Amino acid sequence: MNEPTIVYRFKNGLYINLTNRCPNLCAFCIKTKWHMQFDGHNLDLQGQEPTVQEVLALLDKELRAAPVQEVVFCGYGEPTMRLDAVLAIGRALKQAQAQGKYPAFKIRLNTNGLGNLINHCDIVPQLRSAVDVVYVSLNAQNEELWRKLLRPAPGYENGFASVLEFLKGCASAGFDRVAASCVENTGADPAAVRALAASCGADFNEREYLNEQ
Ligand code: SF4
Repeated sequence: MNEPTIVYRFKNGLYINLTNRCPNLCAFCIKTKWHMQFDGHNLDLQGQEPTVQEVLALLDKELRAAPVQEVVFCGYGEPTMRLDAVLAIGRALKQAQAQGKYPAFKIRLNTNGLGNLINHCDIVPQLRSAVDVVYVSLNAQNEELWRKLLRPAPGYENGFASVLEFLKGCASAGFDRVAASCVENTGADPAAVRALAASCGADFNEREYLNEQ
C-alpha cells in the first residue's frame, strides 16, 4: 500500500487528513468501500496521526507551490476528534494570512456535527477563531433515521439533537458560510433535510452517493 497522505490537493482546495477516528459508522461512508483510498491517495493513517507541525509544514510547501481557494479539514475521519489540532492549524494559517505570507483562501471544516459531544463543551466559539466555513453532514431529517443511517457508537446514539444544536450555534456565530448536507439515495429526504437545515439558520448542500470504485 502506498504511504499515507496527510495533505492533498483536490479541485481548488488543499485537504487535511488529520485522523481516521470517527464516532459514526455511516452506511454510506466511502472510507470502507474505497479501502481508505481517495483520488489516488492512501488516507489510512494506520494509527499514526500527524502532528500540528507536520501538517503546517506540508501546507506551507503546497501553499508556496500554488495558491488554493480553500484549505479543508476533511479526510476519512472526524476532525473534531482532534479539536486542539484543528484550532492550532486554523489559527496558525489565519495568522500567516494576516501577515501576507500566503494568498487569500478560506478555511473550511467538514464535520459530522458531533464536536460538542466529543469534546464535552460548546466548541463553536473556539472554532470561530480557526475556520471560516463549516459544512455539517446532517444526512437525516429525524433522529430515528439519523441513528439508522449514521450508526453512532455507544454514547453517541442520542447525538442528533447535539448536531442540530451545533448547526444552530454555527449559523449564529458569524462564519462566512454554514451548510448542512445530505447524501442522496440513502432513504433520507433531501428536501426535508434542507428544511431542517434552514430552520437552524444553515444553507444546504446535496451530495452525490458514491459507489464502489
Ligand atoms: S461521519 Fe464521515 S467519516 Fe464518519 S463514518 Fe460517517 S461519512 Fe465516514
